[in-house]
Amino acid sequence: MNQKKCLSGKVALITGASRGIGKAIAISLGKLGAEVIVNYSSSEERAKEVVEQIRSLGTNSYELKFNVADEESVNESINKIIEKSGSIDILINNAGITRDGLLMRMKSSQWDEVLNTNLKGVFLCTKSVSKFMLKQRAGKIVNITSIVGLIGNPGQANYSAAKAGVIGFTKTCAKEFASRGIQVNAVAPGFIETEMTEKLNYEDILKAIPLNKLGSTEEIASLVDFLVSSTASEYITGQTISIDGGMNI
Ligand code: NAP
Repeated sequence: MNQKKCLSGKVALITGASRGIGKAIAISLGKLGAEVIVNYSSSEERAKEVVEQIRSLGTNSYELKFNVADEESVNESINKIIEKSGSIDILINNAGITRDGLLMRMKSSQWDEVLNTNLKGVFLCTKSVSKFMLKQRAGKIVNITSIVGLIGNPGQANYSAAKAGVIGFTKTCAKEFASRGIQVNAVAPGFIETEMTEKLNYEDILKAIPLNKLGSTEEIASLVDFLVSSTASEYITGQTISIDGGMNI
């Protein structure tokens, strides 16, 4: 089979794919031939643009609005995908938000919003999709965590707790699903140029990055491609792979 279309016949759901890292992953998996479902929460126009871009590659794609933190809406949406596309072979739990603030000033609402989207959202989507993956005895799940879940970051107690939670969750799911042919891994990006990081002071950040540059969304997408499409990754599960210019050394 043409390596470029090695995901032909596979269905991939990417949460939070209207922009940033999720968008790059969606386009990259589309290039590999997967039917791509572009999830978003509010950016309808942008999600439609991503879908158009994927369709222009000759690959099927459609957008689907749902809030990853809302159980009913997640379950309904996953059922819709199964009805329309027949299966879900690849799940990329990418949707995420920040609500930064030093712990002493952090409101419970900031904590709840971030934990609900970044951790509970991963639980809800994985639980709902795994029901089908377990039956088909195959599947690839990639959770987008963060360097901050590994090393912490002042002002991000909520975000680092959620992202560390995703790492533990990834290991448990990998153990629970391994015998059914489902691989579960996490990718831990450092600082990547997206809207999430555009307000940060790049000069200070660069001092902490041995490779002295921010990462690109395409670099994250290439690592995800490897985890979901390469035969070389078939023996990898439960891992958290850092992609951070050396920040986590
Ligand atoms: P981004 O540009 O802010 O995009 C976030 C995406 O998540 C958008 O598509 C957004 O949809 C979606 N989203 C937010 N809340 C949602 C919800 N409740 N339900 C469904 N979708 C939701 O962020 P990014 O920088 O690409 O980050 C993507 C992931 O990588 C996140 O998990 C983030 O924590 C992680 N990460 C990012 C960096 C970085 O440096 N950028 C580093 C490490 C980890 P709408 O457009 O509809 O709002």
